[in-house]
Amino acid sequence: MNYSKRCDALTEKIEADAFLVYNMEGSDLPSMYYLTGFTGEGALLVSAKGQILITDSRYIEQASREVPDLPVRQVRGSYLDEIVAAIRESGIARLALSGVRMSCSMVNKLREKTDVEIVVTEDPVSNLRIVKEPEEIDRIRAAVKLTEESLDQLVPGVRIGMSERELALRLEFIMRERGAEEVAFDLIIAAGENSALPHYQPGQRLLKQGDLLLFDIGAKLDRYCADMTRVFSVGEPTARARAIYDIVLAANMAGIAAVSAGASGKDVDATARDLIAGNGHSKHFQHGLGHGVGLEVHEGPRLSPMSTDTLQAGMTVTVEPGIYLPGFGGVRIEDLTVVTEDGCEVLTSYPKDRLVEVG
Ligand code: ZN
Ligand code: ZN
Repeated sequence: MNYSKRCDALTEKIEADAFLVYNMEGSDLPSMYYLTGFTGEGALLVSAKGQILITDSRYIEQASREVPDLPVRQVRGSYLDEIVAAIRESGIARLALSGVRMSCSMVNKLREKTDVEIVVTEDPVSNLRIVKEPEEIDRIRAAVKLTEESLDQLVPGVRIGMSERELALRLEFIMRERGAEEVAFDLIIAAGENSALPHYQPGQRLLKQGDLLLFDIGAKLDRYCADMTRVFSVGEPTARARAIYDIVLAANMAGIAAVSAGASGKDVDATARDLIAGNGHSKHFQHGLGHGVGLEVHEGPRLSPMSTDTLQAGMTVTVEPGIYLPGFGGVRIEDLTVVTEDGCEVLTSYPKDRLVEVG
């Protein structure tokens, strides 16, 4: 990864002398990691003159391993005082920071303690991260592969009478056994009527004959996330389940066919949404069609009726239409794509052409 190139791109983007990243308990780990490769807590001052990492004694050894070439300033009193001193010594007049990533109280304290002009911007680093470098795509591809192989390993052992939580635990175990650092998000494993809740948390519900069984899952590998959804039928599928599966599959494929550099997030969403609406299910698909995936599982660009994003080659975007029937269940099919000049590459290769029986 070319960190200094990323920092240069950032300093060109901001209308200020420097940008401040502040990562405490993971509050802005994506920016810290993206700009330096450092995974500990601390602050980072990025300017045209270079970068300064401000961290405390707990992370000094880690910094010497992860970022040996980066100038490090060790916090002696408080982080605030050290940051203020670093700003003063760097001769910065105008400092930009992210109002999305930094707390209001920290911004206010900085305003009180320094004379520099503070510009609160949205989040320029996540705007840089939106177009992925080839090495990032490779890592996402590997996370997707690990996720798919883990699901493949789990599925033959799924039995009637198992609980959603048991499946979630087994799947996470398999992912970690295969080398995942952690799950990219709380795995969503939903059976029967619970699959109609798009952001369900696995519970004690036991699998029974005729249930739809939804897996919205992703592993994190080398810091990059995967995100995919597949739905199975416990035992033989009902006609109703088959019918909504086929509509969602058609919407998923229409959405993927619409993903291309230059397409708007709004139009790609509409392609899939119109197909679902045309089949009488407009009320049963309420969330956006997709989102970017990278260091975070939900990033830009957005595919939704509200999106103002235009797709560019190198962006990743999920395509995840769904139909949710309250009290019955839901189907969502989610694939992860990489936008190319004339279409997209679909990273997800797990079969989806029909509703498969398990149990
Ligand atoms: Zn998902
Ligand atoms: Zn998703």
